[in-house]
Amino acid sequence: MSLQANPVAIVVHGGAGRIERESLTPELERLYHETLERSLRAGHEILRGGGSALDAVEAAIVIMEDAPVFNAGKGSVFTAEGKNELDASIMNGSGLQAGAVGGVTTVKNPIRVARAVMENSKHVFFTNEGAEKFAADNGLELVKPDYFRTDRRWKQFLNWRKQEEARAKPQAATTLEQPEDYFGTVGCVALDAKGNIAAGTSTGGMTGKRFGRIGDSPIIGAGTYADNRTAGISCTGHGEYFIRHAVAHDISARIAYKKESLAKAADDVVKSVLKKAGGNGGVIAIDAEGNVVMEFNTPAMSRGYIDREGKLKTAIFK
Ligand code: ASP
Repeated sequence: MSLQANPVAIVVHGGAGRIERESLTPELERLYHETLERSLRAGHEILRGGGSALDAVEAAIVIMEDAPVFNAGKGSVFTAEGKNELDASIMNGSGLQAGAVGGVTTVKNPIRVARAVMENSKHVFFTNEGAEKFAADNGLELVKPDYFRTDRRWKQFLNWRKQEEARAKPQAATTLEQPEDYFGTVGCVALDAKGNIAAGTSTGGMTGKRFGRIGDSPIIGAGTYADNRTAGISCTGHGEYFIRHAVAHDISARIAYKKESLAKAADDVVKSVLKKAGGNGGVIAIDAEGNVVMEFNTPAMSRGYIDREGKLKTAIFK
């Protein structure tokens, strides 16, 4: 199939982590694939119809936020206090506009508020009550905090708490790392027919995170970045490392300053820089030519794309 004059492409992730094949039931595995595909197709349809990369990213992420299988929106993981606190961000590569929310507990689709912050405010990042008030003022759908709760994540939380009690020591960042802990954050990057790139990320964070903790997902330059001149990037993994290494912006900067290809930049940052530092996770990205990259240093990252030739693929393990 020949390439279109103005290629469109979309890539999504549904989280990276140390999940093992055996711990994923066939039912759950099927749900991951199905939802990734639904999300990709929704975004791709917008792109094919001449819609914007931003609309595609938002549509794809809303589907994953609404699906209980992912750690974003409904199905988010629990904090150390047994609550759901959600983070999200979105960025427009054409003018570097960005919006983000952190620690929201009543907003059904955090990615929609992030977009509203970008488009309807002078600011980039709102947290907690402010973000919720902003969502309400902008007519976005609010829910009761228990809307986000699922039995699967609650069991994970109880299991985490049992292990914490057994250790009987302060909740150090390293003890957050349990198999599956950060499996399920979602993200999307899209390139539209006008050559615009957008990226977005949405998450419940990490099981057992301490009150007020905000990860990389809503931090522009850490968990999300988009610049039409380089690439769009969405990250997933142990957020503290992604913040320290400004992962999403580092990949963009390597393309801009070192003239690296997207593939080389993503490979270096994920497999070399992050890995050496002990930061587990992965990234998805698309560059201005529509090259798609999905790079991770964990045993698994649920992911998928529809590339510029229209080919669809979803995968979980290496
Ligand atoms: N990066 C997210 C965080 O640290 C978690 C994840 O990607 O699973 O909050």
